[in-house]
Amino acid sequence: MAINWTEAQIEQIVASVMKNLGHGAPDADCQWNSTSYCGRNLIGIYEDMNDAIVAAEAGYKAIRSMSVEDREKIITVIRRLCREEAPIMAKLGVAETKMGRVDHKTAKHMLVADKTPGTSDITASVKTGDFGLTLTEMAPFGVVGSITPSTNPSETVICNSIGMIAAGNGVVFNPHPNAIATSNYAVDLVNRACAEAGGPRVLVASVAKPTLDTANIMYKHPSIRLLVCTGGPGVVKSVLSSGKKAIGAGAGNPPVIVDDTADIRKAGKDIIDGCSFDNNLPCIAEKEVFAFDSIADELIDAMKGAGAYLITKEQADKLAEIVLVDKKNPKTGVISKIVNRDCVGRDAAVLLEKIGVRVCSNIRCIICETEFEHPFVQHELMMPILPIVRVRDIDQAIDLAVKAEHGCRHTAHMHSKNVDRLTRFARAVETTIFVKNAPSYAGIGFGGEGHTTFTIAGPTGEGLTSARSFTRYRRCVLSESFRII
Ligand code: NAD
Repeated sequence: MAINWTEAQIEQIVASVMKNLGHGAPDADCQWNSTSYCGRNLIGIYEDMNDAIVAAEAGYKAIRSMSVEDREKIITVIRRLCREEAPIMAKLGVAETKMGRVDHKTAKHMLVADKTPGTSDITASVKTGDFGLTLTEMAPFGVVGSITPSTNPSETVICNSIGMIAAGNGVVFNPHPNAIATSNYAVDLVNRACAEAGGPRVLVASVAKPTLDTANIMYKHPSIRLLVCTGGPGVVKSVLSSGKKAIGAGAGNPPVIVDDTADIRKAGKDIIDGCSFDNNLPCIAEKEVFAFDSIADELIDAMKGAGAYLITKEQADKLAEIVLVDKKNPKTGVISKIVNRDCVGRDAAVLLEKIGVRVCSNIRCIICETEFEHPFVQHELMMPILPIVRVRDIDQAIDLAVKAEHGCRHTAHMHSKNVDRLTRFARAVETTIFVKNAPSYAGIGFGGEGHTTFTIAGPTGEGLTSARSFTRYRRCVLSESFRII
């Protein structure tokens, strides 16, 4: 599990995977939808959410009688298939959602395969004393209902499945409608792995047409004992209002501070690497920069050297008119700005073309200097657009960065060699993830220590979820015996 990839290794993995990209990937001859892929029916996909829940419950009952070792065998096959079919899912994800980048999505699947904890994450604890022995074990909930996003669709389905199966659960997914074929491909992959390892034919299930109604059936169904939601504020709120135990992994708007002690060249490259990863779709990715005025010019130069394209204030305002659109609240009539879904996760070159700027394909991020109030700073764009705000000192940097994070307490980044300043910002911003002197993805184990997850549960406090997040603690008391001293 302790994989710490260097940048060269990541490039090597991506290069070797890209070589096989044509194999099995969706092409003109391959028809795909939410229930089939290249003429093959996907396993575990149902028209009716109730049927999906019944199937997952049968799968859960089947694995209850299996040993932990057998569960680990299922997970081993999931990891293998995830690696082998990463290019297919990456290409399918981009083709279906029109968001992100195939090479980066491929690397994300490799990360899930290699660094999502399995059954080793499930442990027991014992307390002994004058009254005997008390054992606490991590037990499955039963069937977990999981809502997954369009931004990391198959990554989240597979990552959730590994953790939830390791914990002994069955799973029903209500995936994002815009990524349903990709998500259901991953559901099928998990079921194929399960059957190959001697488990039930269906252990995880999904629906052909997910809607808010199918989500509501899931919320209310008595067999669903735990809800896990990975998505924006609306859906997290709806899950937390369900009346059931729920894990909510919501939105963020990660700020980055760069001070005058940082290695500026490295900071510029790290920030562009993180911000442009999968075209800024990951919720942890750098969304706005607060740079000390004294180093801001040097930082911008470093960013340009790392593949960023600097636009003017006027161009930034023009782009903001395109990537953000008005939405009227049907209840209050109040109009507010929301992100234009057609621009989320698009290549920097595509976004630049919308304001009449043509660049070559090695440009991977758009940067601009803005004031703090600019919509690029205030909105979670999920696009490779990075606003830079000049600040005079650390006090102003922390003050503005905390405000820009909007209390999501999700992720923040800082480039500095001053330990006091790093500590001050980490304490003030109170985020689940705080990355120092590295690209954002180091926070989920990509070139950083620690396990990975694509469900970062800030609102409900589980943090970077893993198998143990999907368990309930049960106690067994053996009074006045079983103590050997
Ligand atoms: P989204 O919020 O648009 O949708 C998430 C899922 O919820 C989809 O399946 C959608 O159909 C469903 N949904 C939406 N409203 C619902 C409601 N009221 N009731 C039931 N279901 C509902 O998410 P998205 O655009 O695909 O993902 C992007 C958002 O998710 C961003 O805000 C991002 O920060 C966040 N995100 C967070 C994490 C994390 O780990 N914290 C991970 C990925 C994405």
